[in-house]
Amino acid sequence: MADEDIRFEVAGRPRDAVMGALGAMQAGDADWRAGKVPLYVFSGPPDVQEIGRAAFFAFFTENALGARRAFPSLARMEREVVGMGLDLFHAPAGAAGNMTSGGTESIVMAVKACRDWNRARRGDAQFRGTLLMCETAHPAFDKAATLMDLPVRRVAARPDYRADVGAMAAAIDDTTMMIVGSAPCFPFGVIDDLAALSDLALQHGIWLHSDACVGGWMAPFAAEIGRDIPRFDLGLLGVMSLSADLHKFGFCPKPASAVFYARAELHAAQEMRFDVWPSGAFGTNTLVGTRAGGAVAASWAVLRYLGREGYRQIARDVLAMRDAYIEGLSGISGMHIRGTPELAIIAFGCDDIDMGQVAQLMSDRGWVPGMVRTPSSLHMMMSLHHAAARETYVADVAACVEAVRGRSNAASMQASYA
Ligand SMILES: *Cc1c(COP(=O)(O)O)cnc(C)c1O
Repeated sequence: MADEDIRFEVAGRPRDAVMGALGAMQAGDADWRAGKVPLYVFSGPPDVQEIGRAAFFAFFTENALGARRAFPSLARMEREVVGMGLDLFHAPAGAAGNMTSGGTESIVMAVKACRDWNRARRGDAQFRGTLLMCETAHPAFDKAATLMDLPVRRVAARPDYRADVGAMAAAIDDTTMMIVGSAPCFPFGVIDDLAALSDLALQHGIWLHSDACVGGWMAPFAAEIGRDIPRFDLGLLGVMSLSADLHKFGFCPKPASAVFYARAELHAAQEMRFDVWPSGAFGTNTLVGTRAGGAVAASWAVLRYLGREGYRQIARDVLAMRDAYIEGLSGISGMHIRGTPELAIIAFGCDDIDMGQVAQLMSDRGWVPGMVRTPSSLHMMMSLHHAAARETYVADVAACVEAVRGRSNAASMQASYA
């Protein structure tokens, strides 16, 4: 029988009771506003959050599934969001794309398009090509592969945590259908050598997907303010598709991502179209049917409100804060930043101690610790709400590292006297 609290009650509760209960539950959550949560939440400046929220609620009830037939406003906004993305990502003429509910959906759709395009090109309706990627690529590709029953081949990264292009080249065979590069990868925040992967893909006639889910809407602006950002976008001839999440460093409300294709013909291979039921033909460019109109309107509003200049300013602020975090953390004895992260995602650890124990102590101090398992590291994905917590965070990491080091020294002293 169900828990007392989770029965579906006969009587509804008053509005105040419902809202009060929500507030009480929320009060028990980790305090992301105070910078205690190193992932899941991305924040631009307050005015950007505000316009995103206002636009979302202005189209709260509209359904983007009906954009073509009932809500031309949403069709137009999505066209403009996609158009801005194609411009930002140096897409060639004739490129196309659409919005989705998130990075996972963007990736699932890109893999589906790649599979069906390969099936048509090879004249083999059963073809199940392999997805080839670095070990650092996001598990969303494995989700796509699981859904479509495709093999995945993961290859070890280089010592600098970037994709090992030579090892990936050696792993290509007749079944390889897609090569993936990350811009950047989630675990270490480093951007793969997409230019070299592009050459490799062109040489073998294989589809290259640039996974710019987390970095896509920040990396171009980081480059524009003079940061060193490797090329990763549709300006590279081998990149056939690119995913970029508006709801991460695009600072748009969830759920919003976009997927882009170098040619309309590749985008067409993504469409789901059926004529199978009494209601007639049913076609969508997404996995989901019903889509939040608010997410489309909010993304349009945030992109239009900020413009390139607004995003450059956020990139300046976020990257300056990230530099300050890195400087503080690097001052801790034995601490290494893993690789050379380009954006605001970093992994760091000391090789003489178990960073899992450091994470446990950080958790005791009220932080939600981000973790990388190999090599044992802490992980952070930073945006503006992490600024105020920096000094406390760095001091707490330093104290927790010393505590764990003290324990392991004590343990090894005991061991040597035994
Ligand atoms: C977040 C992320 C994804 C998946 O996006 P969701 O919006 O969480 O579905 C894919 N790739 C990378 C590199 C990511 O960081």
